[in-house]
Amino acid sequence: MAEAAQKEREPKGVAGYVSPYPYVEKLQPRMDERLDRQVPRGGQFCGFCYGLLRKDAERCSFCKKSLAEAGVADSIPQDVLRAYLAKKKTEERWVHMGAFLGLIIATFLFLYLVAWAPGFLGHPGVALAVLIGGGYVLAQLFGPLLGAQIGYRRGSRKRDKMWAKWLEQREQSGTAP
Ligand SMILES: [Zn+2]
Repeated sequence: MAEAAQKEREPKGVAGYVSPYPYVEKLQPRMDERLDRQVPRGGQFCGFCYGLLRKDAERCSFCKKSLAEAGVADSIPQDVLRAYLAKKKTEERWVHMGAFLGLIIATFLFLYLVAWAPGFLGHPGVALAVLIGGGYVLAQLFGPLLGAQIGYRRGSRKRDKMWAKWLEQREQSGTAP
């Protein structure tokens, strides 16, 4: 029992989530670039995971499959990009929501100080400093720190589910590469 609990507490992956698809995890930053249109659309892609292939590669550097087995694709299917987009959007949404929550808390703190705080703490200058400085700190804390972690977990789960579904459908339709 104690051992199991110990195991449970060991850190797992980023923000406590381990993707069952390590290559999908590795592909996310590449797909983000593609979704942000920072890289050209063209190229040769792995027929299994749609990672961009290096020239003359014999093996995909993302999923490690041999290209003889996986085949080569000349584009990334929209449904696959959608899965990566879901992760990206979910994470961004949580960062924004977290930052917004931080600002709301700072605003309430400001109002509280102005309205009720005694003496020095009730000074509008102090309250304003709390609003601005506290707003910044809380927005950072709830956005990029806490919100990003929740968003990362939720977004990754959503993406992996979509990828699993894609794999299943591809297998069923038998149209693989
Ligand atoms: Zn691959």
